[in-house]
Amino acid sequence: MTSGFWAVVPAAGIGERMQSDRPKQYLQLEDKLVIEHTLQRLASHPDIHGIVIAIAEHDQWWPAVSQDIACPLHVVQGGEQRSQSVLNALIELSTLLDVMDQDPWVLVHDAARPCLRQSDIDKMLSVLSGHDVGGILGIPVNDTVKRTDGDNVITDTIDRRNLWRASTPQMFRLALLKSALETAQDQLMPVTDEASAIEFFGLQPVMVEGHADNIKITVPQDLDLAQLFMQQQRGEC
Ligand code: C5P
Repeated sequence: MTSGFWAVVPAAGIGERMQSDRPKQYLQLEDKLVIEHTLQRLASHPDIHGIVIAIAEHDQWWPAVSQDIACPLHVVQGGEQRSQSVLNALIELSTLLDVMDQDPWVLVHDAARPCLRQSDIDKMLSVLSGHDVGGILGIPVNDTVKRTDGDNVITDTIDRRNLWRASTPQMFRLALLKSALETAQDQLMPVTDEASAIEFFGLQPVMVEGHADNIKITVPQDLDLAQLFMQQQRGEC
C-alpha cells in the first residue's frame, strides 16, 4: 500500500562555486529566493503530500525563508555529504509515517534546481508509479564527449548514444532508498545521487527524459539563465 508521494529536498550544501556570501539556495531569483521557488514548485503539485527538507546545522539564512507553501513542511538537519542529508530526511519521513503499511514514493529534488516544471513531475509520476524500482529525470547528452588525461590531452571520444546527464527529481520508494543509502554508507561507497545508491544495491532505475531548463544553480551566471528560463516558461519570451 502506498501513501502517495513525498518530496525530500537536500538544502544543506554551502555552494562554494557561487563565490557569494551565502549558499546558492538563498540567492535572490526574480521575486523570491532560489529555495522558495523550489519549495513552491514541489508543494503546488497536487499529488505531493508533504516535503522534508535538510538544512545545515547553524544555517543562519533558513529562518528568513518563506514557509508559506501548500503542503506540510518538515525540517531536519543535513549531513556533511548530500547523501547523508537525504538519508536524514528519509529517516525523519519514516518516523512521521506509519511504516507498517505505508511506503510512499519519494521524489528527492535539489534545493538548487528552482526551474522544475510541473509537467516533468507529472511525467515522472506517470512513467514510474507502476515501476518496480523507480527512476530519475535526465537530459540526453547532445554534445560530443571527450576524455582527456591529466594534461588536457584528448585520449578518446565517447559514444554519446545512450548517454544522459542525471538531474533531479530522483524517485524511489522510501524503504528501498533508505536501505540503499544505508548500504552505500556502511560500505563507504561514495554516491553523488540516489540512483547510484540504488545501482550499487543491484537494481536498475529508469531514465525519464526531462526538460533542459531544470538547471542546478552552480556558478553565478546560472542565476541569469534561470531567470531567462522562468520568463520562457511563463511565455514572456
Ligand atoms: O553541491 P551540489 O550542487 O551537488 O548540491 C546539490 C544539492 O544538495 C543542493 O541543493 C545542496 O544544498 C544539497 N546538499 C546537501 N547536503 C550537503 C551537500 C549538498 O543537502 N552536504
